This record gives sequence, structure tokens and C-alpha cells, in this order.
Amino acid sequence: MSQEENQTSTPTRFWETTALENMTAVQWESLCDGCGKCCLNKLIDDDTDELYYTNAACHLLDDNSCNCRRYIERFKFVPDCTVVSMDNLAELTWLPESCAYRRLYLGRGLPSWHPLITGSKDEMHRLGMSVQAKTVNEMKVRYLEDNIVMWPLEDLD
Ligand code: SF4
Ligand code: SF4
Repeated sequence: MSQEENQTSTPTRFWETTALENMTAVQWESLCDGCGKCCLNKLIDDDTDELYYTNAACHLLDDNSCNCRRYIERFKFVPDCTVVSMDNLAELTWLPESCAYRRLYLGRGLPSWHPLITGSKDEMHRLGMSVQAKTVNEMKVRYLEDNIVMWPLEDLD
């Protein structure tokens, strides 16, 4: 989930020494890079089960900051917004390869551009690893099929 600023530097690289299931709520929440990719609408091909990302973003996503504009109260407006947790992480196979939760779950570690490592979201944006300036509001999209994009699949490191 894209969320309010959570990219503060931490004194220790806790994600290298603490298993996902043992993290505190604060540690878990801080793992989210705020890339916004999980706030994009996706399509699944009925015949092949293949997943396609679109650049049509949830209407609450801020295209510049990549944060949710109503994060705390988002479920009032988007009841099916997904909460990533240890209980569902294994099933959330649609999370992008670059997602911090997915990477750690697969034993890949965090990428060098992750805000927990760099101290801000700047490097993530600079490298194009977030949705910044690349989305359209889902309310303005008629056919999601016309908005399929490949860039959310990109991963670095
Ligand atoms: S894709 Fe993962 S890391 Fe990126 S905003 Fe969503 S939950 Fe956070
Ligand atoms: S409500 Fe929309 S913008 Fe906010 S976290 Fe959920 S999917 Fe993302």
C-alpha cells in the first residue's frame, strides 16, 4: 500500500536480522517503500491467468508523492484496498517483483534504492521504481485494456 511518509532512516538494518513474522507493527509498516504500484488496477487473462498491470491508479493515489491521499480512512472509500500481512503475503502473487514485502518473502532482501536504505523516496523515484508521474486516475479510464503497461514489472537490484 502506498502510505503516508514512513521512510525514516533506522539505526539498524532490522530487515536483515528479523524474520518477517517476528517484526513489530512499526517495522512491518516501514518496509513499505510507498512506490504505489499496488494501487494500480490489474487485469487477469481468463484463459492464461496472466497478470497485466495498467497505469490506471486508484482514485485516492497521489501521482506525485505516490501516497494514498486518505490512507488512515481509506477503507471508507475503497473497501477492497488490500492490507498486506503475514497472513496473506503468500497469496498476494500480484504484488510487483519490486515490492519490499515480496522481495523479503522470497529471500531477496531490500534493493539499494529502498527508502529505508537511502533515507528518502527520491532515489526510488529517480530510478523509475515508483508510479510517480506515470498514472491516470481510474475514474478517467473507460477500458482498462487500453491502459496496460509493462513498467510496473521492472525491478532493480
Ligand atoms: S508495492 Fe509493496 S512496497 Fe510498493 S507500495 Fe505496495 S505494498 Fe508498499
Ligand atoms: S485506497 Fe487506493 S490509493 Fe489508498 S492504499 Fe488503497 S489502493 Fe492505494
